[in-house]
Amino acid sequence: MTPRTPAPTRAHAVLPSGPGSLTGLEAASPFTGRHIGPDTDEQAKMLAAIGYGSLDELTDAAVPAAIRALAGFELPAARTEAEVLAELRELASRNTVLTSMIGLGYHGTFTPPVITRNVLENPAWYTAYTPYQPEISQGRLEALLNFQTVVTDLTGLDVAGASLLDESTAAAEAMTLARRAGRAKSDVFVVDAATLPQTVAVVRTRAEALGIEVVVADTADGLPEGGCFGVLLQYPGADGLVRDLTPVIEAAHARGALVAVAADLLALTVLRAPGAMGADIAVGTTQRFGVPMAFGGPHAGYLAVREKLTRSMPGRLVGVSVDADGAPAYRLALQTREQHIRREKATSNICTAQVLLAVMAGMYAVYHGPDGLASIARRTHRYAAVLAGGLRAGGVEVVHGDFFDTVTARVPGRAEQVLAAARAAGVNLRPVDADHVAITCDETTLRAHVEAVWGAFGVSGDVAALDAETADALPSGLLRDTEFLTHPVFHTHRSETDMLRYLRRLADKDYALDRGMIPLGSCTMKLNATVEMEPITWPEFANMHPFAPVDQAAGYLELIDGLADSLARITGYAKVSLQPNAGSQGELAGLLAVRAYHHANGDTARDVCLIPSSAHGTNAASAVMAGMRVVVVKTGENGDVDLADLHARIEQYRDTLAVLMVTYPSTHGVFEEGIEQVCAAIHEAGGQVYVDGANLNALVGLAQPGGAIGADVSHLNLHKTFCIPHGGGGPGVGPVAVRAHLAPYLPNHPLQPTAGPETGVGPISAAPWGSAAILPIPWTYLRLMGPEGLKEATQVAVLGANYIAKRLAPHFPVLYTGPNDLVAHECIIDLRGITKATGVSVDDVAKRLIDYGFHAPTMSFPVPGTLMIEPTESENLHEIDRFCDAMIAIKGEIDRVASGDLPADDNPLANAPHTAALLAGEWAHAYTREEAVFPAGVVPAEKYWPPVRRIDGAQGDRNLVCSCPPIEAYGAN
Ligand SMILES: *Cc1c(COP(=O)(O)O)cnc(C)c1O
Repeated sequence: MTPRTPAPTRAHAVLPSGPGSLTGLEAASPFTGRHIGPDTDEQAKMLAAIGYGSLDELTDAAVPAAIRALAGFELPAARTEAEVLAELRELASRNTVLTSMIGLGYHGTFTPPVITRNVLENPAWYTAYTPYQPEISQGRLEALLNFQTVVTDLTGLDVAGASLLDESTAAAEAMTLARRAGRAKSDVFVVDAATLPQTVAVVRTRAEALGIEVVVADTADGLPEGGCFGVLLQYPGADGLVRDLTPVIEAAHARGALVAVAADLLALTVLRAPGAMGADIAVGTTQRFGVPMAFGGPHAGYLAVREKLTRSMPGRLVGVSVDADGAPAYRLALQTREQHIRREKATSNICTAQVLLAVMAGMYAVYHGPDGLASIARRTHRYAAVLAGGLRAGGVEVVHGDFFDTVTARVPGRAEQVLAAARAAGVNLRPVDADHVAITCDETTLRAHVEAVWGAFGVSGDVAALDAETADALPSGLLRDTEFLTHPVFHTHRSETDMLRYLRRLADKDYALDRGMIPLGSCTMKLNATVEMEPITWPEFANMHPFAPVDQAAGYLELIDGLADSLARITGYAKVSLQPNAGSQGELAGLLAVRAYHHANGDTARDVCLIPSSAHGTNAASAVMAGMRVVVVKTGENGDVDLADLHARIEQYRDTLAVLMVTYPSTHGVFEEGIEQVCAAIHEAGGQVYVDGANLNALVGLAQPGGAIGADVSHLNLHKTFCIPHGGGGPGVGPVAVRAHLAPYLPNHPLQPTAGPETGVGPISAAPWGSAAILPIPWTYLRLMGPEGLKEATQVAVLGANYIAKRLAPHFPVLYTGPNDLVAHECIIDLRGITKATGVSVDDVAKRLIDYGFHAPTMSFPVPGTLMIEPTESENLHEIDRFCDAMIAIKGEIDRVASGDLPADDNPLANAPHTAALLAGEWAHAYTREEAVFPAGVVPAEKYWPPVRRIDGAQGDRNLVCSCPPIEAYGAN
């Protein structure tokens, strides 16, 4: 093939000036050229290097003709950044943000501006990846350890994880944890009637598929008759009541059941901890620790347990270990519980969690300290007590005498009227039923709000006078009598100057996209443009309660509907639900839809989920959560699904086949041929096809899973292909997209009927539209790119991966290729031969890349002993070449080990990464100090210094420490 120079498409073309040239200016879409790294010249060079003449020629050769989308999809043409911001402002203005006193797990809070600007709005935090490479993630790992310490101290339990997705899914995880770890032989899970309604609903959705019977009961007078394996209690109750849970916890333990308490962390600063009352598990949200309500999310959920349950915990856990010099260092602990290792035997399907929000909540506690948090809690409580006092004085019945922040008032037949009057005064209250209204105070409550509420009830009062005469409503026997947050970190960053420097110090330890390329296959670490991030902190988006009356959220709903519609057009599906707040949750929602569809057809025996052995770990874990049996399909020599084995399994499970779950392009980064025949064979046997759409960055504009590929359902990861930043391990959005026949079984929500079909499977997340506040990011991205720009982005992503494959192939074997020896948007290089011959492992190469100033590619997934590289369209040729040069230089170092020039146990790879500390002192290695710290291509003045040397993960798993270690532990430093 003769390379030819492609016609210039856009980039950096200088527009003519003079009469009539405005037309050209209006047509220009400069953002595409900002998002896509390689400009026209660079693209031409890359195309020439791999022997193609144009992007179209390349993708025609790479993508099998049978699935190529013949016509594009209809989306509005690209707009400029200024135009899109103006459109967003207009949408935002259509949201009416009232003062929320709705409560139910979502509360007004003041985000300290130092945290907003230096965490939430700081790419050093929000563009980081999940801390799998701990040596370059010490900053966020420390921040997460702070978070875990906050949760364990306040709940009075031993171990807390580094965030779950929200309170309701955390409660559902607690249910399955209790079933796994408990002794009781029962299928009953008791949920107290005072549990948040959305939590009850999420727990029911999860329980149904697992054959768990949920019994909702008032446990004030004891547990219902019969056995149960677990109990869930809310503390304080949704109705505001604070009561001693000790008796019911003891009764549950007497039956061999485990008890989970969904607890409000702010209340726990003044109330006795669940752990002190005997609870085994505590769950909840950390939203009110400085994270805006955000119309439902994202926020960090939490889960804490007694020590004996640690190994059964779901989700990520940060622990303390040591590095090669024996210095303390943080890393993810007990990963063998997780889906990426344990697959269908994992403790949960959680992958992406809520790291950025957990960092914010932890920092809120660091900034306020224990006394600051307790005074926020006491102030919140005083307002509630005064509010109740005023209602009582005005003759309104207040249902409970003991409460923290929530007052339930009885107004026979008048609830609607009170709610309307409050709305007219600018306040949303919570409708309980026709006779009851609940009012929740928070950190942002003011005298004027209390007076407005009184007015809505037709009473009046004097806040100051009532404050003087009203006693606290916290039960004296349940006051907290133990210290919390005694660690110095919660006492030393209390001035803004100190906080600013602490945040900077931590961020400086980490490698994020603001430093360089993160070429992680399957993770699509592309540009998260500033303009896309801007709207998420606008008050019209940030300060909305998820259960506010929908007519106050007109702008949000238009944005949500528009985004769902665009995603349906892009993927070729009929309907999209944006509720799942991670890819794993989209998988569960999609599989539950398949299950419900089969059941509706009377096919209740269809419970087999076929999954290729190369699949992402979440697939198998999600299938188990959807009540399915996982049957593994072999992978052939060439990396494709083994078709003979697949057909054998189809025959074997013809009558019980529910679904095939397959990733496309494959997890091997290849456009497999014949996917449409695979889909047809599954359909012929009565099964459904689930295409894991996390790799959509290779498909947008080129092929549609719901189109010619022929799948029935997919989830997409908006935090990969659609520019939501990875946040150091979350947030994410994992929409589920379906063909029309599955649309009746999408998620819905008990508190917002417009959020899903009446016939739906129930909620999959706590909030009706999941992590609504980050949906402006993909919405903005689609508007800025337009259909042409989106297609070009995909084409350049494919170009980048093929360019890297071509450059590295002479040095490292490229494991799999598809049509015409091309890869899709990522490529796998095989180090197994090298490891066998030299002892140099993928780990060594990954850690050595740190010395060269790079984040490692994905290690040993989907094939052990390999590296999977995904450049994305956003990296320009200079950065891609810098990476290839580093890899080639590393191969040179490996060759020196192979030749015996460098000893196998003392070489720059085995000892990587090298820290700044190694610049001082004795140097007794077989290679030079310069080679160690300033390898080829590294400019000393621009060097990224890892703060620790290689971390011994196993040591930390053997000696588990999951909260802030005493300061003396750092003596070595
Ligand atoms: C990232 C990914 C997932 C899981 O998505 P999360 O948002 O992390 O839960 C599933 N499948 C594939 C192929 C992925 O790359």
